[in-house]
Amino acid sequence: MKVFGVTGWKNGGKTGLVERLVTEITDRGFVVSTIKHAHHSADVDHLGTDTYRHRKAGAKQVILSSPQRWAHMSELQGDHEPSLGDLIARIEGSDLVLVEGFKSEVHPKIEAFRFENGHPPLAEVNTSIVAIAAKGAIATRLPCMDLDDTSAVADFVLGQVGLSVIDDSGGDLRPKLRNDCFALPEGVDWVPVDDALARLKATLAPVAGVEVVSTTQTCGRILAHSVTGIRHNPPAANSAVDGYGFAFNTLSDDLQLKLVDGRSAAGESFVGHVPAGHGVRILTGAIIPQGVDTVVLQEDVDLLDGCVRLSGQPKLGSNTRKAGEDVKAGDIVLALGHRIRPTDIALLTATGISEVEVFKPLRVGVLSTGDELANASVKDSAAHTTYDANRPMLLSLVEKWGYQPVDMGIAPDSPDEIEKRLNDFGPNVDAILTSGGASAGDEDHISKLLRTKGDLTSWRIAVKPGRPLALAMWNGVPIFGLPGNPVAAFVCTLIFGRPALSILAGGDWLTPQSFSVSAAFSKSKKNGRREFLRARMTPSGQVETFRSEGSGRISGLSWADGLVELADNGYEIADGDPVKYLPYSSFGL
Ligand code: AMP
Ligand code: MG
Repeated sequence: MKVFGVTGWKNGGKTGLVERLVTEITDRGFVVSTIKHAHHSADVDHLGTDTYRHRKAGAKQVILSSPQRWAHMSELQGDHEPSLGDLIARIEGSDLVLVEGFKSEVHPKIEAFRFENGHPPLAEVNTSIVAIAAKGAIATRLPCMDLDDTSAVADFVLGQVGLSVIDDSGGDLRPKLRNDCFALPEGVDWVPVDDALARLKATLAPVAGVEVVSTTQTCGRILAHSVTGIRHNPPAANSAVDGYGFAFNTLSDDLQLKLVDGRSAAGESFVGHVPAGHGVRILTGAIIPQGVDTVVLQEDVDLLDGCVRLSGQPKLGSNTRKAGEDVKAGDIVLALGHRIRPTDIALLTATGISEVEVFKPLRVGVLSTGDELANASVKDSAAHTTYDANRPMLLSLVEKWGYQPVDMGIAPDSPDEIEKRLNDFGPNVDAILTSGGASAGDEDHISKLLRTKGDLTSWRIAVKPGRPLALAMWNGVPIFGLPGNPVAAFVCTLIFGRPALSILAGGDWLTPQSFSVSAAFSKSKKNGRREFLRARMTPSGQVETFRSEGSGRISGLSWADGLVELADNGYEIADGDPVKYLPYSSFGL
């Protein structure tokens, strides 16, 4: 269940917007519920109705039931108003809860705003507001929609909570990639690496399906919605230490507390109220009993007969943890697109989330092309035979990144054979990596085929090793045509393939973490292209590079532990200069 808020000044148009969103989003097939906060005493009954009379007579809870609806009314009778999280937890069977009001809660909200009201937008001071639906022009850096364009606001809200990609009905609500998504603007020749990355980032969208998975099974999976905690962490106020609890204000001047019978332990709370001036034995993690607001460490007291004396003046509230001080029910705990790690599984579990919607693993086909290629299992190989090293490398990269590798084998340099392979596997994969035949030469059949039949754009990227990357759509499936040289195929997959596959899989765009390290080499760098050198750290903490830059030198890939990235311009690198080092681990290896 997703939560999204509508807030704004009085008369800003909140209720009208909620009303229109409920209709619009319900019409799109989702079940919508709402929670409304009223500041003043609001009553749902009328004077004189039966349930009004029950309540006025003192009933704590009243249920009214009819064939059309039922209502559960609870009189607080002096208790605290329930938190938003507690209220959300009472809603069942809904895809989305729209919350009106509750502007100081942290869930993401849209502000309904009317210029003529004369206030500046609430969004200027409220950081949980992520967009504005406005009547009249306003200057804001947030996404801004017309207050009356309900369809645009609904698209935004559903996109924010991840519901636009959820497919409960068997229909396919996932965005489709456009066939021309890899097209380059007219006249572009050499594409700088940063431009190529920016274009991929802008044009790609998630294509993987969605499924519900038990939280325990989600390591490495990508969240298909932002997750809202349904339980406070910690769930209740408790003690941070083993010691003695008491009410701070009732401590006498001699710092002595008479101990009550019983104790409060984790999982076995003290029942009852601790009287003024008394103390109770309390253990780490135990719920703070009624009448207690402060705990002293057991090492800081002297145990006397039936009482304890504190060794010094305590501080109010010391050694206690408040309910929800870490995470409150209703807080967004993890965002759409996040890749779940073991630590996230702990957070989800602690906040009451036992299952989540995640993207199905992206199915990535890997095809090698070339008449000279053979599987390594072929022992009596001819002199021209090259063992296919790219396919096993790429299949294991795909698997390492948490996707489902699909082996499409080796295709000879024949357009018909390659086309057949793409058609056979296309319907059962979400993306395809090919290697070899990607340039514009006679034997570059991948390029030829994709150009004639598959919306090919050949990106001549200003990168070494690499250069031509053939990007195309084949019956709706994106194909990344990598160079055949194993070093170039590997580098292009790390630099371009990894972030692109992450987006297709529903995840975030990935930028590898880099480190500035002193060079243990010197080099004259050519102008006009980005270079990636096979590299590793020396025992003295410098970075050294492989002895050869030849892109057929597979041994260098294995020798290295990472890449040195050299900027596009020309310059001299001397021993000891800082260079940008990207360890393989920054690429998830
Ligand atoms: P191509 O991009 O098809 O012109 O190939 C460039 C070089 O990479 C040639 O020497 C190929 O033999 C080699 N090559 C292509 N594909 C592979 C592969 N899958 N494994 C090993 N070497 C390859
Ligand atoms: Mg070839």
